Amino acid sequence: MCDRHAIYIHIPFCVKKCAYCDFYSQTCLSLIPDYIQSLEKEITKHSCTDTNISTIYFGGGTPSLLLVKDVENLLQVIDDNFSVSKDVELTFEVNPGTIDRNYLADLKNIGINRLSIGAQSFNDEKLKFLDRIHTAEHAQKAIEDARKAGIDNVNMDLIYGLEFETSSLWINDLNKAIKMDPSHLSCYMLTIEPGTPLGKKYKTKRSKKGRAHPIESTKMSTLFKKTSQLLCESGFEHYEISNFSKGRHHRSKHNSKYWDMTPYFGFGAAAHAYDGKKRSWNYRSIKTYIKDINSGKLPVEDEEMLTLDQQMMEMVMLRLRTLEGLDLEKFQTLFHISFEKKFEDTLKSILKERFGFFNDNRFALTLDGKSHLNGIVEAFAKGIY
Ligand code: SF4
Repeated sequence: MCDRHAIYIHIPFCVKKCAYCDFYSQTCLSLIPDYIQSLEKEITKHSCTDTNISTIYFGGGTPSLLLVKDVENLLQVIDDNFSVSKDVELTFEVNPGTIDRNYLADLKNIGINRLSIGAQSFNDEKLKFLDRIHTAEHAQKAIEDARKAGIDNVNMDLIYGLEFETSSLWINDLNKAIKMDPSHLSCYMLTIEPGTPLGKKYKTKRSKKGRAHPIESTKMSTLFKKTSQLLCESGFEHYEISNFSKGRHHRSKHNSKYWDMTPYFGFGAAAHAYDGKKRSWNYRSIKTYIKDINSGKLPVEDEEMLTLDQQMMEMVMLRLRTLEGLDLEKFQTLFHISFEKKFEDTLKSILKERFGFFNDNRFALTLDGKSHLNGIVEAFAKGIY
């Protein structure tokens, strides 16, 4: 019996790399057919028919570069090798530049019941800066097409904090998104990742180590708080630091499992998996992934058994991101020490700054606290290591 109830499938193909993107993906689309075959083999190797899978997530990369027939085959292989819950949440990421209404209708017909649209912005200047392959019009049309295709559970990803971002530019993006009435919004701060075109640009321009964000942290923090206020006033629940849902039932069940440290399978090149104690990850190379699978091996590059300290750090780091926060009883049960005792000094200063609060046997961060999340997590880390 396996106790993993979620499956993540990585589709590492993109039409073109976006300037900021650090996810593993390649533009060699001719490898897709071999990759799909390898995925089917990898899934089969993990066969466990007495486990109940309640969420499946196709992420990327750009899953919407796949033929619907291929997605259907992959779902069939999952069905043959696992017991899939009748009300499984089946999420599929799409890039607005690669889809049309018929494609979405076909996805709906094979069982996809949640779409995640990589809109990023409704402003063409921002999209151009990010090197996206689509326009604002495509992004808007994607959600209209999803509705016409009969898919109501729709997330839109948005990015803020570009170097020329103003409060009104971002609020304008948010207002357009709100008007389209998605059931979920993910709003991410633009991060400068080393090795990406954006990372290189900032290093060259400033001839010093790349900063984490293109704009000052106080400005980013103001945008973050405005995002939360505006979306909560518009009927969204701010349930995770970057995620907003129209009611609890529209939360991402799959991603909630990550924030809850629930074990999951991860299939595909660069995919990570977690069994409750051990994390493993596949090769970040499509060719090595296919080669390993074809020679009968698991394409695992490495694995790491989490120490108790690492598990504690993960729990703090992940739970402080969420609306509900950290469950004090669960902490005590897992680590045989009370959260209050373990982090006495850190908690004193957090409470003094009104960055966090205790409620209903839980500890959570306030909105102000969440805007200082990195510093707060660092302070907790000092209490562990
Ligand atoms: S489409 Fe998504 S995965 Fe592909 S390069 Fe752009 S951000 Fe990265």
